[in-house]
Amino acid sequence: MNLILIYAFIRFLTFDLVLWLWYYLNMEKQKNWPVIGHKNIIKFLQDSITLNKIGNAYIFFGQKHLGKSLVAKYFIKSLLCEKKNGFFCDNCISCKEFAHGIYADFYEVGLEEGKKNISIEQIRKVSSKIKNSSFSGNYKIVLIKNAHNLSLPAANSLLKVLEEPKGKMVFILISDNLQKIPLTVRSRSQIINFKPVDPSEILTFLPDKEARKEIAYSVNSRPGLAISYMRDISLFNDYKISVDDFLDIFDLTINQKLDYIENKINKQKIFIEKVKIADDILNIWLSIFRDLLLSMNFSLNQIENIFAIDKIKSLSNKYSIKKIIYCIDKINQAKKYLHNNANPQLILENLILSF
Ligand SMILES: [Zn+2]
Repeated sequence: MNLILIYAFIRFLTFDLVLWLWYYLNMEKQKNWPVIGHKNIIKFLQDSITLNKIGNAYIFFGQKHLGKSLVAKYFIKSLLCEKKNGFFCDNCISCKEFAHGIYADFYEVGLEEGKKNISIEQIRKVSSKIKNSSFSGNYKIVLIKNAHNLSLPAANSLLKVLEEPKGKMVFILISDNLQKIPLTVRSRSQIINFKPVDPSEILTFLPDKEARKEIAYSVNSRPGLAISYMRDISLFNDYKISVDDFLDIFDLTINQKLDYIENKINKQKIFIEKVKIADDILNIWLSIFRDLLLSMNFSLNQIENIFAIDKIKSLSNKYSIKKIIYCIDKINQAKKYLHNNANPQLILENLILSF
């Protein structure tokens, strides 16, 4: 038993080492911010540091897993670094303090456990802290994750701070739903729009492992997800099983389809977890219908789920383009309902019966 644990530990260490080395070798490409893609954004942020043109508020916006938090982290590191050359040196006091989580003027705000919104109290608390003079004379930074969850009073409280900025303070808001951030806050912020990263670019950053190509294409241009899969291949295998399950679903009876949904959703008891499962399922379905469309257009080289290409090709013979577009519209509509707190199980049941 112990031997197995030691073996697993060594495997974990060596794999992480390989991953780290790979990033290190690729670092040069991104001028020491080890991020996959987003070259223009990185250049803009690095230039703003060297030119000393730092805004009071930024909104890093784009779909999940693109690397928004990672870019924010390196932006903050380079902003605090004493060299002020757009990079981080990892040697100065600011770099070391930030790396050890003891830089006194950095605050992170996000959803608290079990809460639906970021509250006004949370914003008031950090606002009062950054109004005091800085410990180091350096930037005071507030990172707000899932900023679309700011309650309206919280957003208004934030707006007040942005309207009367004091000293060197920077707010970085991260969000995958820009529309939910009040226009007043948006208009006071520089919006940094993160776009999907080309699979070929993701591919060059992944260590040479067997599943590398399958992963680079199946993450739908989200490098963050590719990294998670490379770190824990079982997550990718689970994803492949979900795709495979869905491709078999078209031959099932109505009752079997409903059982399939019931089994998936009722794995979790908490509503917010059910929503998360439903959202993951909808994303998988969407990727499969997109692949069906691509295979009909003979754009096989753009297919995301390349590991399931045979099943996708045979399924595409049974569907018309019109029907596939109808299904894609339906799934997008379901995603909207899901984010407006409708019942996840009912949404998926209605949808699966319409396929
Ligand atoms: Zn430094």
